Amino acid sequence: MSGNRASVLREMGLAPLWRLRAAQGGAAAAATAGVAEMAAERESIPPAPPPPSAPQPARREERLARIARMGWAELREAVAACRDCKLCERRKQAVLGVGDERADWLFVGEGPGADEDEKGEPFVGQAGKLLDNMLAAIGIRRGQNVYIANTVKCRPPGNRTPEAEEMAACFPYLARQVELLQPKLIVALGRPAAQSLLDTEVKIAAARGRLFDHHGIPVAVTYHPAYLLRNLPDKAKAWEDLCFARNTMRRIAAGVE
Ligand code: URA
Ligand code: SF4
Repeated sequence: MSGNRASVLREMGLAPLWRLRAAQGGAAAAATAGVAEMAAERESIPPAPPPPSAPQPARREERLARIARMGWAELREAVAACRDCKLCERRKQAVLGVGDERADWLFVGEGPGADEDEKGEPFVGQAGKLLDNMLAAIGIRRGQNVYIANTVKCRPPGNRTPEAEEMAACFPYLARQVELLQPKLIVALGRPAAQSLLDTEVKIAAARGRLFDHHGIPVAVTYHPAYLLRNLPDKAKAWEDLCFARNTMRRIAAGVE
């Protein structure tokens, strides 16, 4: 077997090689190959590569370190080509985020819907219209001093809630976005965003009106705009939450928080 073919087989995880050689040369060849040599060969054969959905700890660490060094351009490219969870299978395109890269405000939603998957921008459908109105209510306009991102960058089929495994796979991208942005305040829209950023179970009703922490950056939580479209009475609570966020930002700007 040529070295080349051997390495291809190794790549494919078709080991151990010593068995192939013994089968080709018969028992005599296997005997002359020597037990020590066979053992050495066997040890030099790396284990089969794991499937993409189950990265080995070393590979996971390497991926995290790679993402943690990315700038905006690399993040954009990496997310566009990412296949690190099963949401890649049915997306049209991944949606990194949109807005001012030096923004004081960061709003984080759940994941792209059909419109966002089509256009490549977060919150451009019905929920996006409501979000724009919510922003306007506290004097913010898309593209000016605000960045908008999602917990997962690829559309969950049928707009289902992203699974824990998908959120975990995608979180390093959001974490890197936060690091690059260094926003003064993060507003988590809905439970998946809050749970990802705070790395704990969160109930929105209980968490509203309080400040949490993500790596030194204050986080406020409120309802997701899509939820508000289905639960109109809770809009009043979202309004209170936005006022809380706006007042918090004022205090931060004044150096009080
Ligand atoms: N809902 C979200 O959470 N994000 C979007 O981008 C659109 C709808
Ligand atoms: Fe990659 Fe995130 Fe898309 Fe999953 S959702 S494929 S982790 S970019």
